[in-house]
Amino acid sequence: MKYDVMIIGAGPGGIFSAYELMKKDPDLKICVFESGSPLEKRHCPIDGKNVKSCVRCSTCAIMNGFGGAGAFSDGKYNITNDFGGTLYKYIGREKAIELMKYVDRINLDHGAEGTTLYSTAGSEFKKLCMQNRLTLLEASVRHLGTDINYIVLKNLYEEMKDRVDFFFYSPVEHIGIIPGGFRAVLKDRTEDAGKCIISAGRSGSKWMEKICSELCIRTSSNRVDIGVRVEIPAEIFSHITDKLYESKIVYRTKKFEDPVRTFCMNPYGIVVNENTNGIVTVNGHSYEDPERKTGNTNFALLVNKRFSEPFRDSNGYGESIARLSNMLGGGVIVQRFGDLERGRRSTEKRIAESTVRPTLNATPGDLSLVLPKRILDGIIEMIWALDRIAPGTANDDTLLYGVEVKFYNMEVDLDEHLQTCYEGLYVIGDGSGVTHSLSHASASGIYVADEILKQRGKL
Ligand SMILES: Cc1cc2nc3c(=O)[nH]c(=O)nc-3n(C[C@H](O)[C@H](O)[C@H](O)COP(=O)(O)OP(=O)(O)OC[C@H]3O[C@@H](n4cnc5c(N)ncnc54)[C@H](O)[C@@H]3O)c2cc1C
Repeated sequence: MKYDVMIIGAGPGGIFSAYELMKKDPDLKICVFESGSPLEKRHCPIDGKNVKSCVRCSTCAIMNGFGGAGAFSDGKYNITNDFGGTLYKYIGREKAIELMKYVDRINLDHGAEGTTLYSTAGSEFKKLCMQNRLTLLEASVRHLGTDINYIVLKNLYEEMKDRVDFFFYSPVEHIGIIPGGFRAVLKDRTEDAGKCIISAGRSGSKWMEKICSELCIRTSSNRVDIGVRVEIPAEIFSHITDKLYESKIVYRTKKFEDPVRTFCMNPYGIVVNENTNGIVTVNGHSYEDPERKTGNTNFALLVNKRFSEPFRDSNGYGESIARLSNMLGGGVIVQRFGDLERGRRSTEKRIAESTVRPTLNATPGDLSLVLPKRILDGIIEMIWALDRIAPGTANDDTLLYGVEVKFYNMEVDLDEHLQTCYEGLYVIGDGSGVTHSLSHASASGIYVADEILKQRGKL
């Protein structure tokens, strides 16, 4: 075998696996295949002038390349078992937290020193939330910001590049099982290794499904989160965001008792497009650099939809809803909350007259033509509930961008080592369905690397 370990995908999961292996066993021969480009070559063509919206590149610079979907993210590393994935179910709660803290340490050593670690523990908002049918989830969050996150990734790459073989623009098409290991089949060549770690992330979800089907690895899938991104003047949430940075708040709707939750809060941030498998949805991030901060805060409000038998294609359901918004708006739709409540579409004129300046150039429209009633009702109810802890959230000029869809990869059948039914074939990160966040994906990478190191007697 040319390599001891091959890693597919250079997102946080793959990067932290490679880093840990390289550090603890310098003799290991490691390679990483990545379908996207090196970090410095990742450029989204949207410039706000000539290219205003997503042009659907074949490989999305936001989602693919060194750093994965996390490269231009807000860099919020949440240290918690309450959200961000279910890694704890496989490796135990204590171990999961220990590894997330370990990842935090590595980030601090690579450029994140000086960034803030926020915590919801013992916060006065917990009580305020409880008094208003809202639940504040417990977490510590290290906010790197998009700029520092980039620096950390750059430093990690610099340290690894001469000791790990990185192959960019190299999508792996198939994985073969060969005696004593695995074969990565690429368009023009093959590469063999004793162990294989797959960390294909969200953008690799369709490919992952194909690989599982080819190798007869069992999978399950039944959930998707659908909602909108809310944008408000930062002052409205500042009493919460200044103290907690990101607050994960859950609301249970009165009518259906559906859980609606805030997700990915970006104080003084911007709203952005996201392209998943050619479908344009919405997301958000913010910068640590004061010069790049805006006057707005954005966060998602998501309704969780779980399906029961016989329906299995929860992602297909989410995609269809996102496609509807793409069909009506050519991409993401934006609507004033006041227009939504009055049952009318937003227009260029109404958005221009709004006191909230949109940070994303989206098409004014009507989200009620896109989102199912039950989901929309839940979102409206939650906006009013949030208005009680942050008055002004339910203002007419509050902007709602749609749709935001949180696709969950199907869950790959894995054991407590995050190993498939093939010894030495591991699946980690968001592509496994086990994690949905930077810290959990990174921790899963370290965990599997340590499993391999233990087998080699290096731990
Ligand atoms: C805009 C945005 C903001 C976000 N903000 C946050 C945040 O603040 N906090 C947080 O916790 N999470 C955030 N997330 C989610 C976070 O980025 C992901 O949870 C995390 O990146 C998952 O890591 P991963 O390594 O599992 O997968 P990914 O980061 O998706 O990386 C997978 C990599 O594998 C590559 N790949 C896929 N298939 C193949 C193949 N067949 N061959 C070769 N390479 C392949 C892809 O090109 C990709 O680079 C954000 C996501 C986005 C898009």
